[in-house]
Formats: sequence, structure tokens, C-alpha cells
Amino acid sequence: MDRQHSQAVTSDQGFLEAVEVVAKQLSDYRKQSRHDDVASNIQPLDELLESLDVARWIAEGGMDHNSLQQFLKTYLAASTRMHNPAYMAHQVAVPDFPSAVAELVHGAINNPLAIYEMGPSAAAVEFAVLNWMIAKIGWVPEPLQGQGKDHASGVFTHGGSLANLTAMLGARAAIAPDAWERGNPSDLVILVPPSSHYSIARAASIMGLGKCAMVELAIDHREVIAPDQIYAQVKQLNAEGKRVMALVANACATGSGLYDPLNEIADVCRERRIWLHVDGAHGASALLSPRLATLMKGVERADSLVWDAHKMLRVSGLSTAVLFRQAHQLQNAMQQQASYIFYGSKSAGVDLIHRTIECTKAPMASKLFFNLAWRGESGLAQYIESRYDATSDFYHQIRSRPNFSCPFKPESNILCFRYGDDDDLQIQIRESLMQEGKFHISSAIVAGVRYLRLAVMNPDTDQTTVNRLLDAIESGWPL
Ligand SMILES: *Cc1c(COP(=O)(O)O)cnc(C)c1O
Repeated sequence: MDRQHSQAVTSDQGFLEAVEVVAKQLSDYRKQSRHDDVASNIQPLDELLESLDVARWIAEGGMDHNSLQQFLKTYLAASTRMHNPAYMAHQVAVPDFPSAVAELVHGAINNPLAIYEMGPSAAAVEFAVLNWMIAKIGWVPEPLQGQGKDHASGVFTHGGSLANLTAMLGARAAIAPDAWERGNPSDLVILVPPSSHYSIARAASIMGLGKCAMVELAIDHREVIAPDQIYAQVKQLNAEGKRVMALVANACATGSGLYDPLNEIADVCRERRIWLHVDGAHGASALLSPRLATLMKGVERADSLVWDAHKMLRVSGLSTAVLFRQAHQLQNAMQQQASYIFYGSKSAGVDLIHRTIECTKAPMASKLFFNLAWRGESGLAQYIESRYDATSDFYHQIRSRPNFSCPFKPESNILCFRYGDDDDLQIQIRESLMQEGKFHISSAIVAGVRYLRLAVMNPDTDQTTVNRLLDAIESGWPL
């Protein structure tokens, strides 16, 4: 790299020019992605490495704003287009641009905020966003001065998986306070529906409880927890000398998009003094809509909740809150005797480092903050309602065609359906559609049956999109 070039890289002018190039390219990308007939363009790894010329860039450097422009063209052309209405595959947000602005700001200033002095603005925003979420749940927000123990608390982590692990650590600290120091007692079990996200089983293994500590709850034909059976199951486990460390409920389940009946589950958990953890990674955002919030009824009696902003709140990955109804339970999760809360006396603000597995901590709440600040809470609520409602319309639309069926009415923006009556056919259809690139959809097994699956994340996906999809399936695979 010559001297002149390396100066350009560090210069303020270089930064400005690069950002201008990126801004223009991304703005074109968003526009095109919305209107083109391409949802994804999945090229093989070897071809992509070659067309991106990755090895040469790594070895030689020397990118400037002209070559950046060229590079980005190739890079974006081979990217999956969340902004296309026919993208209906995975539960990741179509990011709204204010959240992208937050990513840029962080990239330029790099203020990881685990300790207040490392990123005061970002820490202040995270504190306020957490309290906004806490109020949505119906818990007591955290005061500026950390006194008393009736308030809630939380922290942003990199994703629902890490958040679920954090919640399980809190649950363990509550039932076995010595475990941090001495290891696990052997009598702990976690009650889960079979549809629980794999990160819960992973957390159990990481914590050394072992996967065998996972006990499956009774469910109905839709794989939703049957609350009237919990009591007997717990009694049976206790008779076998087991103690229930936590019961995990889905809000909603990843595969089916169905909510477990939190209110009835909370009744049993309260009575039996069982830690209730609600995995609301996808569906907790329903709390923003007064109408849809009924799906979450009972969450206010949970002990912990996981809530992803990078699913239904139009935020790029990752941005997840793990929230605890009682602040001291989160404080205890990471260390043995942690009844003190650090700020006030020693710090000018809030030190989040005691609450999280991570050390250097990205300002994940800022992405959500910018979306809230730009569209308002009501703007986000409208988006969520529109996607849940559209999915309900698609359910009727799909069922009205003779060779299509749906196993159950959707409760969220996740919809399972089936064409014909053959498991392999569903996989074949999905793979072939992906290869063509016009539609990007996913697939799931619910109650032992293979389905095609839509996650209706894109604000522009409508009945025309779904009609095109159904036409493509019917004409490609006549029955
Ligand atoms: C998506 C999801 C997760 C995992 O969250 P990540 O943010 O992808 O790590 C966990 N639980 C449920 C119910 C989910 O839908």
C-alpha cells in the first residue's frame, strides 16, 4: 500500500467519500430489491470468492472509494434480498433505515458500553430502552438510583441464544445459589415443550446440567403446552426426587408461530414456585399492540423474558433483550453474592458488565432506539399488526386452493402450509424455488409432519405475492 493511499484511508475526506459511496449503493439496493423479481441469488462459495476477489484484497489491500463501489456492486448482487416482498423465509427483520444509521454511528465511534465510562451515550440509551420494554411487560422500571428490589432489570445481548443462557443462569442462581461456586446439584430439571428453541437445550449442556435435564411437557395436537397437565408432571418429578429449575414457554414457537398459554402456565408456576421463563424472541413484540398483547397475557407474572428486536422490530441482527422481573435475580445470575448494584456511588451511570456474559459490549439497544425515535412506538405497532393480520389473510387464501392445506390457524406472522400429501415434495419445492431465486421460503416439521413455512417479515408482502407463489407451485408440480 503506497503512502498516499494509506493517508487517504485515515483522512476525514476518505471517510466521507466512502460513506457517500456506501449510502448511494445501499439506497439503490433497497429500491431495486423492493421492485426486482429476485428474492435471493445464492451462488456457490468458490464462484463467489472469485468474483469478490477476496483473497487478493486481503493480501494486497489498496481499496479506495472507486473500487469500493465496484466491490459493493458484486457483494450486494449476491446478497439475500430482505427488502423483496417474495422474501418470506427466516425470522430476521427487514431493517428499517434508522437502525442502519445506528450501526454506522457505532462503527465510526466504537463505544462499547459494558462500563459506563466506555460509552455513556450508548449506555444511557440502553438503560432507557430496557425500561421502555419493562414498562410494556407491566413490570416496575429500574430507577436511576438502584435502591429497593421490587423493580425489574435487563440487558441487551448478542441474540436470543445467549439471552436464553443468561435467563437459565438466573433460574439456577435462584434455586441453587451455590452452583456458581460448587457446580450443579444433580436433581435439577428444566421443563420445556418439545418445540422449544434448540438454544435452551444448548444452554442446559453448556451449564453442565446435561441435555438429560430437559424434561418435555405435555402438549396438544399443535405442539402447544397443555397447561392442565403441568401440575401432575411436576408432582411426579418431585416424587422422583427432582426439582424444577425452570419452565420454559414459547411466545411464540419458532416453527409453528403459536403462543403457549402463558396466563394458565403462570398460574401453575406461581402456585408451585417454579421459575417461569418466556422465550419471546420472536413474538414478544406483540406487546406493542394493545390488540395483540392479549397473546402475551400472563407474561407479567414470568420471572424472565427474552425479546429479540432483530426479529419483529425492524432492527438488523443482533439486538436482544433479556429481562428479569426482579433485578437482583439478574445480578445473581453471573456471580455468587451479587446483591450490590454498582452505580450511584462508584459510577456516574450504569455498569452493565455485571449482567452479561459478554465483556466488550456493542450498543445493541441504539438500533432499536433509532427506529422508535423515527417511526414512533405506534409506527412499529402498526407494522406488527399489519404482518400478523396479513398472515391470517394468507391462511384463508392458501386454504381456498384445493391442493393446499394448513395444519392450524396462525397466531403470528409465521404460517405453515402444505402442498399435496408428501413430505419430500415440500422439500423439493422449497429447494427448487430457492434455486430459481424468485421466492425465498422456509420449511418446518410440526407434530411430525413436514410443511412449507412463511415468515411474513416484509412490510410489502401481500396477497398478490402469495398468489404468485401458489401459482408457481401449482404450475411447477401439477398433482
Ligand atoms: C429466533 C429464536 C431464538 C434464537 O434467537 P437468536 O436471536 O436467533 O439467537 C430463540 N427462541 C425463539 C423462540 C426464537 O424464535
